[in-house]
Amino acid sequence: MTEGRYANIIVDISHEKVDRPFQYKIPEKLRGKIAAGMCVQIPFGKGNHLRSGYVIEVTDQAEFPDEKQKEIVEIVMQGISVETDAIRLAAWMKETYGSTMIAALKTVLPVKKAMRLKEKRKLRRLLTVEETRSVLGECIRKHQNAKARVLEELCKEQVLPYELVTGKLNVSPATLRSLQEQGVLAIESESFYRNPVKIETDREHSRRLSKEQTAICDKVLTDFDGGKRKTYLVHGITGSGKTEVYLSLIDGMIRRGKQCIVLIPEIALTYQTLLRFYKRFGDRVSVMNSSLSPGEKFDQCERAKKGEIDVIIGPRSALFVPFPNLGMIVMDEEHESSYKSETMPRYHARETAEYLAGLKNASLVLGSATPSLEAYYRAKQGKYELFTLTRRLTGGELAHVSIIDLREELRSGNRSIFSRKLQELIEDRKSRGEQTMLFLNRRGYAGFVSCRSCGYVMKCPHCDVSLSQHLGNKVVCHYCGYEMAKPDKCPSCSSPYLLGFKAGTQQIEQQLYKSFPGIRVLRMDGDTTRTKDSYEKILTAFSSGEADVLVGTQMIVKGHDFHNVTLVGVLAADLSLNDSNYRSGERTFQLLAQAAGRAGRGTKPGEVVIQTYRPDHYSILRAASQDYEAFYEEEILYRKLGGYPPAAHMMAVLILALDEKRGEALAGKLARLAKEDVPTIGPAKASIGKINDIYRYVVYCKAFDYRQLTFVKDRIEAYVQPLALKQESVQFDFNPIDSC
Ligand code: ADP
Ligand code: ZN
Ligand code: ZN
Repeated sequence: MTEGRYANIIVDISHEKVDRPFQYKIPEKLRGKIAAGMCVQIPFGKGNHLRSGYVIEVTDQAEFPDEKQKEIVEIVMQGISVETDAIRLAAWMKETYGSTMIAALKTVLPVKKAMRLKEKRKLRRLLTVEETRSVLGECIRKHQNAKARVLEELCKEQVLPYELVTGKLNVSPATLRSLQEQGVLAIESESFYRNPVKIETDREHSRRLSKEQTAICDKVLTDFDGGKRKTYLVHGITGSGKTEVYLSLIDGMIRRGKQCIVLIPEIALTYQTLLRFYKRFGDRVSVMNSSLSPGEKFDQCERAKKGEIDVIIGPRSALFVPFPNLGMIVMDEEHESSYKSETMPRYHARETAEYLAGLKNASLVLGSATPSLEAYYRAKQGKYELFTLTRRLTGGELAHVSIIDLREELRSGNRSIFSRKLQELIEDRKSRGEQTMLFLNRRGYAGFVSCRSCGYVMKCPHCDVSLSQHLGNKVVCHYCGYEMAKPDKCPSCSSPYLLGFKAGTQQIEQQLYKSFPGIRVLRMDGDTTRTKDSYEKILTAFSSGEADVLVGTQMIVKGHDFHNVTLVGVLAADLSLNDSNYRSGERTFQLLAQAAGRAGRGTKPGEVVIQTYRPDHYSILRAASQDYEAFYEEEILYRKLGGYPPAAHMMAVLILALDEKRGEALAGKLARLAKEDVPTIGPAKASIGKINDIYRYVVYCKAFDYRQLTFVKDRIEAYVQPLALKQESVQFDFNPIDSC
């Protein structure tokens, strides 16, 4: 605890106007008991209503005379004190992503309030067996049957679980209390931490690492011991041994008395993944994710602080588990878009992990089969150290990939969703009892407009992104707001087949039943995975052979091993190319490369069919040849030419408004303001122009120096704050992943 007479406090009110520290006097009785990170009660505002607030600093420096200082009333929660690091992290988030301090604080505080520890109760016999028998006899004479049932058991065992007695023996708590008063038994309780992981498994020893794996581990640990803290990027296809490297590194960190955070995308946090970590580290491992109860979350943080666990696994929020001796952060599948927060502050876990690693003097290890352009760009610049794992350790050949030109299919009279080749192969797999996965990338589903005859895609004349079809036969650019009526004929070949693309997983399922009588199909998409465990259920059903075909959206291509899948079909690879976003090429490459990696994971060779209207696009060609390096070179060139991240930085300013005209006016004003300092596009209607009757506008700013963007953000905030807007709000999204 810091001595000090004053505390600077952020009040728990979500409003920009009060988003700054307020100073309070620490009363005599609380002196020495207040520390940064504590939640306290304070009188606030004109009416001096009691509010809670977070202490961010304790100091002796008075900001104004003593008699004007209000006093802290009391401490709300003793238990949780956020280390000053967490407050620094919050301040960094506020500055870097443009959110209020209170929103940032709430993000970095893993639990919002102290929870009681869970207790386990037991009954302990206090008398000897002889004495107990005699009490038992008495109870039987008095027909006290419930008491008799307990005593009978207590003659056999000295200690009984409380729940067994109240449950199976059906004895009321009152009866037990009465026995306690008689001095026959004691009701004891023991508090313990909730452990969300219920896995019992044999421990497994480390494997002998390959040369490539050893080189990575040696380098990271040698750097660590030499006091060098760096970010490493491990690039290796699925099955090349990345996880084994993480396990070995964690082992090394534990030996050094350090703890580790392992980030994985929420969707990858499966029983299989946990099992692997459990086999190596037993219950020194725990998880943190959204399905945990508040009590379970609280306990994991307590366990981490007390040194009960060495490793925490979870999605991006696991970053905020307070380890006292953090040595390493691992971020698997670092390219995943779920690492970016969708709510304020819109932080990216990779950047945040980098900052946190700096604060805690820890190493950061990123891994991916298809690294994000961001990470690979930094590796190329020498900011990250790059390692490549080149081969699959479990054997298994890479699948054979063919690209089918859907325009050709149409020209030769095939109007089905399935190309002739795909039809043949599905039939073949069905007859051989092997399985097929059909993948429809539904991003951009409601989206792009293309010519079915020549493949022409309608693009914005100002932005080099595709136009999207909106209601009323309009096509619109989501970046600059350009719009036009949809032409009747293809501007390129004059065919009448200029259509917005519409096809869903359901249509494909129906088509399968029609085209292949007797076929068994499972479908996995947003509709069939609404309930919590339906996702695992479908996967289990498929892997135990309950269907010939699994149809699904991108969720089916993520990291599952199905040994009997020998055919993967991508139905329209273009769908993700045309979702009017500068990342569409990258996303397409990642999805196709992952999809291709699904085929032939067992002993049988696999085959992949990619159907597309754009067989010559580099994302599709490079994914088919599984050539990341070549893809990167072309993609980074496009980003450099367009001034897109990671070659430059982007900031989206999102304006939400109840009234259309007022929103438009504000968006226009902010765009003019931004234009004074940085290249600015817009304002434009957001890609979804209205949600729940709230109008949405967006202004995009670009700059090579990130600080220029935070400067513009500060200017916008300074302009907006005094307006005290009630009908509009302004949000920031730095280097956005999806179009706003
Ligand atoms: P990734 O994380 O890159 O997908 P994994 O670490 O899961 O790769 O390794 C893929 C498979 O190879 C796993 O079954 C793993 O047990 C095995 N494996 C990894 N490293 C070795 C090794 N050094 N020797 C033998 N098998 C290994
Ligand atoms: Zn445009
Ligand atoms: Zn055409």
